[in-house]
Amino acid sequence: MKVFFMPLITTLVLSCSARTLVTNDFDPTPYKLPIKENASTLSVKRLETGKNLSREMLIMDEGRSDVIHYSTHSAYLLTKNEKNYLIDTGLGLKAREQFMEFPAYARPLFDFEESKTIKEQIGDLPIEAIFFTHLHFDHASGAEDFGPVTIHTLKSEFENMKNDTKQVFIKSQMDADFLTWNFLNLEDKSYGPFKKSLDFFGDGSLIIVSLPGHTEGSLGYIINTNEGRFFLVGDAVWTIDQVISNKDKNFLAKKLVDGHAEHTRESVELLHRIWMSNGNLKVIPSHDLKANMVVPKF
Ligand SMILES: [Zn+2]
Repeated sequence: MKVFFMPLITTLVLSCSARTLVTNDFDPTPYKLPIKENASTLSVKRLETGKNLSREMLIMDEGRSDVIHYSTHSAYLLTKNEKNYLIDTGLGLKAREQFMEFPAYARPLFDFEESKTIKEQIGDLPIEAIFFTHLHFDHASGAEDFGPVTIHTLKSEFENMKNDTKQVFIKSQMDADFLTWNFLNLEDKSYGPFKKSLDFFGDGSLIIVSLPGHTEGSLGYIINTNEGRFFLVGDAVWTIDQVISNKDKNFLAKKLVDGHAEHTRESVELLHRIWMSNGNLKVIPSHDLKANMVVPKF
């Protein structure tokens, strides 16, 4: 019994980590993400490729034991000037096969229920390029499902994936010769609190920023659409409740999934401040269904 309860007690004690709470004299000015003058829009649709249900206490610090968190595996279809792009692919055609490459002890923790893959949902719609929030299994599983395609990511993320020895990434899902890798260069142009940013199309419709920690090369995407402004933040957080209340992932979960604890904390803190400062911006963690519901469904 003792052996069983010790990790639980340690988790509960250590999970109450210190964090800065925003007070009433908080100045939102530095955290505002400006809309470029005459910014263009693009269209975004959300697709679900799988799900799993777990107790909220396993998802975030101080999560409730009696609340079930619906974890969705999202991908996003962007359309601009009649060209289609993806941000993440979610679970792909070979997801189950790829998943079996994880060590046996890890599989029960991260298992999922598949739904239709993005390829099965969009059919032969041509995909111009795929942007990734990061290259973890559940986001890049479908990288090879669309034939020859360009992949946009940071070089550091690509190299971390290639040099990974801890089975954090599933390399076989991205090793096809027909993939063309394009390494994004975030420019020395500040955007709100971000020191670097990339206005990908040059018209303010898609702004890319760095959100290090979960993986060091993790990216966030600020999208300007006719339905509103969305900030896709990948797995920097798992739920919008972490952003609202500036909380980390569950202690054990973050040990298992976040590459750099300190950088992840900084990213959560930053997202909390951005959320406080931009009433018109919808912050969307990849896996939180309730946050994703505001993105139009494919
Ligand atoms: Zn994920």
